[in-house]
Amino acid sequence: MVPQFQSYEDALEYCREQGMRLTRQRQFILKLLWNTNEHLSASVIYDHLRQQGKEIGYTSVYQNLNVLAKAGVIERIEKVSGCLYSHQNVSHSHVHCLDNGQIIDVMVTLPTEIIASVEAQLGLKVSDYRVEFFAHGIKQLI
Ligand SMILES: [Zn+2]
Repeated sequence: MVPQFQSYEDALEYCREQGMRLTRQRQFILKLLWNTNEHLSASVIYDHLRQQGKEIGYTSVYQNLNVLAKAGVIERIEKVSGCLYSHQNVSHSHVHCLDNGQIIDVMVTLPTEIIASVEAQLGLKVSDYRVEFFAHGIKQLI
């Protein structure tokens, strides 16, 4: 089960509980991801941290993203063009931009009839869901 967090502080707390080292670099990355609802590539994350004047190398960004994604602290989406990373917040759905490949988070609550219909088809109880939307013309947020 992937952990889900309400806030940046929640995510930090989870890292501590898991005995993960919380280096400054790791905290910079987590903070940046929690400050945006976007899914960013390692190089965009690196550029932003450098713009903020953070002392961090590209390799360190890349390695930290890997560790955090593996531990389920952040979300990793594998795209043909490379991996995108985002904070791991409560169960959320995605809107994919068909023009620039950007992905943004949205909170969606499906009508109970839809969930009941899926459950009837499967003969199972649905405990969680995510919806993928596709749209044109999503503005770059960052
Ligand atoms: Zn997401």
